[in-house]
Amino acid sequence: MVTAVAQRLASQRKEIDDTLAAFALSPTQLQEVKAKMRVELERGLKKDSHPTASVKMLPTYVYRTPDGTERGKYLALDLGGTNFRVLVVKIRTGMRNSVRMYNKIYAIPLEIMQGTGEELFDHIVQCISDFLDYMGMKNTRLPLGFTFSFPCNQTGIDKGDLVCWTKGFKATECEGYDVVDMLREAIKRRNEFDLDIVAIVNDTVGTMMTCAYEDPKCQIGLIAGTGSNVCYMEEMKNIEFVEGDEGQMCVNTEWGGFGANDNIEDIRTRYDREVDGGSLNPGKQRFEKMTSGMYLGEIVRRILIDLTKHGLLFRGRITERLKTKGIFETKFLSQIESDRLALLQVRSILQHLGLDSTCDDSIIVKEVCGAVSRRAAQLCGAGMAAVVDKIRENRGLDNLEITVGVDGTLYKLHPHFSTILKDTVRELAPNCKVDFILSEDGSGKGAALITAVIDKYLYAMRF
Ligand code: BGC
Ligand code: MG
Repeated sequence: MVTAVAQRLASQRKEIDDTLAAFALSPTQLQEVKAKMRVELERGLKKDSHPTASVKMLPTYVYRTPDGTERGKYLALDLGGTNFRVLVVKIRTGMRNSVRMYNKIYAIPLEIMQGTGEELFDHIVQCISDFLDYMGMKNTRLPLGFTFSFPCNQTGIDKGDLVCWTKGFKATECEGYDVVDMLREAIKRRNEFDLDIVAIVNDTVGTMMTCAYEDPKCQIGLIAGTGSNVCYMEEMKNIEFVEGDEGQMCVNTEWGGFGANDNIEDIRTRYDREVDGGSLNPGKQRFEKMTSGMYLGEIVRRILIDLTKHGLLFRGRITERLKTKGIFETKFLSQIESDRLALLQVRSILQHLGLDSTCDDSIIVKEVCGAVSRRAAQLCGAGMAAVVDKIRENRGLDNLEITVGVDGTLYKLHPHFSTILKDTVRELAPNCKVDFILSEDGSGKGAALITAVIDKYLYAMRF
């Protein structure tokens, strides 16, 4: 009798271990991910392979980071993260650390995120109008920087065609069109105020610029949040499809697209494929779907369903709640994995999600979350190792010291993500000393800083 129970427990344990083993990456596998990422970075930069590359390496027309002498008053928009924000940013002259901001957050209803492009941009302009009224600024025409956190094919600092929507957005008649034009047209339709749109900025670039304002060694921007992406300063001569060989330009890698050419199928699990299949953009953003907040909870949920089906969890009962897409938000993963949390509290979080768990269940759920988030952090680390080693080689250095500016809820709120990411970079890029600094509101401030850098440049050109 006793041995039968023990045997059953042992075989259940083995089933759980086998399921999670697919998420454990060996040092060799991580090296391979780094090497493959390096190949894709190069393919994205080369003229011939650029149009079809899985890592798009988009030019940003940002040639330099701020030097601390920027100043002025700017408007900034931030679309593409968790919320839409409108900001006014004041940068005072001469000193670093002297940025003041006022902002308002607006929700973008799901039916607008996934409605028509015209509705989306009309909504944005309505929010701007509300903000300008609120600030009493309807008649002051300030230069505006637009942080737009999606892949854009830029041909100038204020020109960018949306390549494809990612994350939760899917508005029609936007892909292939210039985002700045769409915003200008919506402003015209409303016919109530005018804006001077100076720059369109990816959130990674805004984050890099914000951190570079404090630390000149910052030449990389990382977002580990709802989505996942990196930008960095590349040598102009390596960016084959952009004219000019002098100096540098920031490249938006769009590394979330890594894997589109089936080159990481060996490490994708059936749960990754299920999550991909149920997403708004099947087949696309495969790396992003293994590494970012919008999808990690979904992977966890799929594993939990599977374990429950096999009678290994929740007494074998698959509830309606467990079948509900999106119940495991990043913030729950972060809470469940917190070391300070007693198992009883894990159970109460699960309870809150409508999942009735035993003590054993809560241990297993915590293990599942840990396996999924650890893999995410390691994959980001492997990607980052490829980027820093490339920069080191670009500069012909044996050793590189560099700073990464980071933003995103996964990085900021998860109890282990940042540590595992840093450990992985250290292991895979031993010749680089990489510091990570958190950006304070990179998306908003960064757009203003870029606008300020351009302003200063235009001002200098007049003399
Ligand atoms: C987008 C990137 C963005 C990242 C982080 C991805 O889905 O494609 O442009 O930087 O999310 O917000
Ligand atoms: Mg953001």
